[in-house]
Amino acid sequence: MGNRCCKKYLGENLFTLLARKIDPIAMSSCSYCQSVKQEMIPTEKLSGYFEWSREIYKRTDKSEGKLLLYWLREDWGIFDTLDDSTANRLLSDIFICDYFNPSDLRIPENLEGTRKSDAWQRFKLEIQHRNRWISTSSKEASELCEDFMNNLSEMEEDKINQYYYRARTHDTKEPFKPQDLSAPPQEIAGHGRLNPAGIPYLYLASLEKTAIAEVRPHPGQNVVTAKFQVKSPESPELKIANLIKFTPQVSPIDILDTDEILRIRTLYLALKEISLDFSRPVHPDATPYEYIPTQYLCEIIKGEGFDGVAYPSAISDGHNIVLFDPSSFSVIKGSLTEYRIKSVFVDTEEFKNI
Ligand SMILES: [Zn+2]
Repeated sequence: MGNRCCKKYLGENLFTLLARKIDPIAMSSCSYCQSVKQEMIPTEKLSGYFEWSREIYKRTDKSEGKLLLYWLREDWGIFDTLDDSTANRLLSDIFICDYFNPSDLRIPENLEGTRKSDAWQRFKLEIQHRNRWISTSSKEASELCEDFMNNLSEMEEDKINQYYYRARTHDTKEPFKPQDLSAPPQEIAGHGRLNPAGIPYLYLASLEKTAIAEVRPHPGQNVVTAKFQVKSPESPELKIANLIKFTPQVSPIDILDTDEILRIRTLYLALKEISLDFSRPVHPDATPYEYIPTQYLCEIIKGEGFDGVAYPSAISDGHNIVLFDPSSFSVIKGSLTEYRIKSVFVDTEEFKNI
């Protein structure tokens, strides 16, 4: 009997996808982990569903070369629950009939895509510096925004935390009241990464220390935090756009056609770059125009019925969440805590020697 792998080994998503194509066998032991009496997929039957990967990611000596495993993870989220040696062992078994060395460096045929993301860069320049309200740019940018929306996933309900945090630096003698930690009133709301001035959104962080880091305090400064929860437990489920990790909504295992997979890869590279604009670190004194592209996308997301956006924090662990309706979360009574900043950690890399 040949090798077979279980759901635990392949990961839930990949197993479910493959089990629709290959009939799993019940009641055998897994060749890779100690699981028994589960549904297993014969490893040899997987080769036809992974052949595209060896065609797209070709062996190379170039410095951009990476292991096939890394490309599968980075571009498609495949094997992202397995450690390197486990995944490489599986790949070797999948391609057992042919020569395959998991430590070969490989490179995709369209490394940079056809620079579809250039369309986004051109659009950004236009709304930042030329035309703001009525764009004259070609159809390519609006098509890209449409693709972005079509591939946007909703955050699963169990991934939305029960509590979120907000912080503000506190430099006055007057103590903060709970409403001081809520979003500012529209009359005085300044611009932010996702909101234009005058349109307040509520910015929250999944961890208290992330909320504190996001206000970029200095040592010796005081910071007040507050804990938030969804206003009413009976309120309808929040629909949050998930930009924490932008992964393809389609799997190459369902496509198999290499030209089509390459086309989708190009599109995803561009969409990933757009999503990175939501979390890219920006200088605290960023001029208002720098945020206009993300503010623009946010209005499109809002228009599609989302209640907010979740994205990774650029300066700490955890994620941030922005609510378009600031009243959808409220401060938990008695949760305000004042902290004194003892020190701030700095991490650097040499940029250039002058
Ligand atoms: Zn197993």
